[in-house]
Amino acid sequence: MTYQSVNPYDGKTLKTFPELTDKQLDTAIAAAASCFEIWRHKSFAERAAIVSKAADIMQKRVDEFARPATLEMGKRIGEARGEVEFSSRILAYYAKNAEKFLAPVELHPSVGEAHMESSPIGIVFGVEPWNFPYYQLARVAGPHLMAGNVLMVKHAGCVPQCAIAFEKLWIEAGAPVGLYTNLLITHQQADRVVDDPRIKGVALTGSVDAGRSIAARAGRNLKVSSMELGGSDAFIVLEDADLEHAVKWAVWGRMYNAGQTCCAAKRFIVVEKLADQFLKSFQAALTALKPGDPMDEKTTLGPLSTESALVDLLKQVDGAIAKGATLVMGGKRIDRPGSFMQPTILTNIKPENPAFREEFFGPVALFFRVKDEEAAIALANDSDFGLGGSVFTKDIARGKRVASRIETGMMFINNISWSDAELPFGGIKNSGYGRELGDMGIQEFVNKKLVRTASMAAPV
Ligand code: NAP
Repeated sequence: MTYQSVNPYDGKTLKTFPELTDKQLDTAIAAAASCFEIWRHKSFAERAAIVSKAADIMQKRVDEFARPATLEMGKRIGEARGEVEFSSRILAYYAKNAEKFLAPVELHPSVGEAHMESSPIGIVFGVEPWNFPYYQLARVAGPHLMAGNVLMVKHAGCVPQCAIAFEKLWIEAGAPVGLYTNLLITHQQADRVVDDPRIKGVALTGSVDAGRSIAARAGRNLKVSSMELGGSDAFIVLEDADLEHAVKWAVWGRMYNAGQTCCAAKRFIVVEKLADQFLKSFQAALTALKPGDPMDEKTTLGPLSTESALVDLLKQVDGAIAKGATLVMGGKRIDRPGSFMQPTILTNIKPENPAFREEFFGPVALFFRVKDEEAAIALANDSDFGLGGSVFTKDIARGKRVASRIETGMMFINNISWSDAELPFGGIKNSGYGRELGDMGIQEFVNKKLVRTASMAAPV
């Protein structure tokens, strides 16, 4: 059974859901295709009425959406509420701004006049991960529905209740049948969806392996795609940083969502002068986190999303140590029921250790000490990933210079405030391609059509 809702706090199975049959899947695609023929002709105001209604519903009933996220993937309830509110803001942002973002753009050819217009392309297929079970959906639904496309989404196997709650949201908001469809389907069926000629674009957020598989399939079908994949973001602390400030962000940046964030701080690169002090304070702050029920507001350390996520991460840590890394703290499962992992710091990770290039998707920090700024930049760039990163320094101009030299899609100076509806999100290298959110996010799946008027004779 692919779709299973299991509480990682106590291991209890809450609900299981059957996958769609191929026939049901075909019926769903046909409904989405029919819906597109109507939706594409709706005005921005008509689309915005439904998208902003969905935003309002989420905003008014935060707890109703937040609880299933906490129950089925262990997100602490305060974080789950924050995610629901943020998802609502993303929907409202696109409801308000889509018309402006997609307005025709005047061009200035040397002869005649021209403009570029944006039109929807059809059904967009989203494949989404469990770590932000609503935010990931809002990131595709807000822009692409407002652009006049319709959406079919395959969510991760461990968050079916969130997936279904988000689909119901659209029905309640007054969406026509087929506008937003949740698909409980297998990987093989996902391939069939990508192959289907009625599907015109594919947006995946997930691991590099999933990205390679789905992007290759989309490529074979010559379909436009966007890939938001993993990361191993550098958290650079220069010798002139405010140490206390940096350590607070380090804890949040590594531990938010129990460390299961694509753009979490994962590699801590600290200049020699501050390295010992940083490590001591970071370790003390991580030690102070208290595991508990993620439904309890006082809990500061929740479980990982699933038992298999924990088992895989423990193996990865053991592997890193076997290949020469030193364990500074943690490294084990917490001795209590549920899928809890000790906050962990590894150091002495040499380039020949496979861990040097891997993503640790959980509460595991890789700690590196470097001589100076140049060495920090070189190490930060020695990664197969290129999602985000951060630099801490009291000298903002220096921070900006360093940020410009890091090969990633996003950089943050003295903070890691990853995501805002208004700001583009995405990476380079193995972290994928394309951008979500902001103005750029709505441009990914629209036809940019040139229209030129010129009264001139045909060349002979
Ligand atoms: P994952 O295994 O790749 O799963 C993500 C989604 O892809 C799920 O819906 C999964 O379905 C589906 N999937 C996986 N392989 C597939 C295949 N061959 N064909 C069709 N669908 C497939 O990722 P994860 O481990 O759950 O999520 C964590 C990863 O996502 C991390 O690497 C993280 O960094 C990345 N991520 C990136 C971003 C970003 O914006 N860049 C944001 C969040 C997470 P099933 O669950 O049914 O397997």
